[in-house]
Amino acid sequence: MAQQKIIQTAGRDALGEFAPEFARLNDDVLFGEVWSRNHLLSLRDRSLITVVALMSQGITDSSLLHHLQNAKKNGITRTEIAEIITHAAFYAGWPKAWATFRLAKDVWNEEADNADNTADAGARAQFQREMIFPIGEPNTAYAQYFIGNSYLAPLSSEQVIVSNVTFEPRCRNNWHVHKATKGGGQMLIGVAGRGWYQEEGKAAVEILPGTVIHIPANVKHWHGAAADSWFAHLAFSVPGENTENVWLAPVTDEQYDQLETIIKN
Ligand code: MN
Repeated sequence: MAQQKIIQTAGRDALGEFAPEFARLNDDVLFGEVWSRNHLLSLRDRSLITVVALMSQGITDSSLLHHLQNAKKNGITRTEIAEIITHAAFYAGWPKAWATFRLAKDVWNEEADNADNTADAGARAQFQREMIFPIGEPNTAYAQYFIGNSYLAPLSSEQVIVSNVTFEPRCRNNWHVHKATKGGGQMLIGVAGRGWYQEEGKAAVEILPGTVIHIPANVKHWHGAAADSWFAHLAFSVPGENTENVWLAPVTDEQYDQLETIIKN
């Protein structure tokens, strides 16, 4: 493999002012010199060593995610990473393998044949670390009522039904109504990222972590992510009589883009 100098700016980006010497050692020595000696050891091998070293210490945070993405970029295949983690599990510890697999699965996910999907998986994993509730599974059951990809994690199925709903940027649900003859409606509480709630005929309301939204029964509305942010909210189904969700037309790009323009100006 031709020698290729690694350009790294993460140290200076994150710690350039606070710890300039650490930033220099990180960017110029660790990456600029050691990682760049790829005539002695390939980038693929260095990735393999680094992933196992981080996993062994149980450092399963953003640095491991970064190095897993790097490992994929440096040619480690999905089959190989599964074998590497399995092998290391016996020496490093079983729970550390589980934690590493959780990240690796996203990086080498099935649809990750193109760079976009890899970036999505990375962004999703990144977003997961911002919140205490799980992202859950792709929201396939309701996908027909959403534009974009959403994810659903049921949190409570007793007393009050509560789910955590995660939206990728620009994802939103169709206009809809939570019908009830008595009680009913829905409450949302922002968990992470930034999103919108809009009732028909009213201005959209921004939802940030901690924002509480009360949606009366029989009111037409939609909710979803901002254009530039992942978003998650808890959704509480308020108990009522003869409750039913009625799904209506999608929120068009025109409506959605106009909303962002209005808010920004
Ligand atoms: Mn709703």
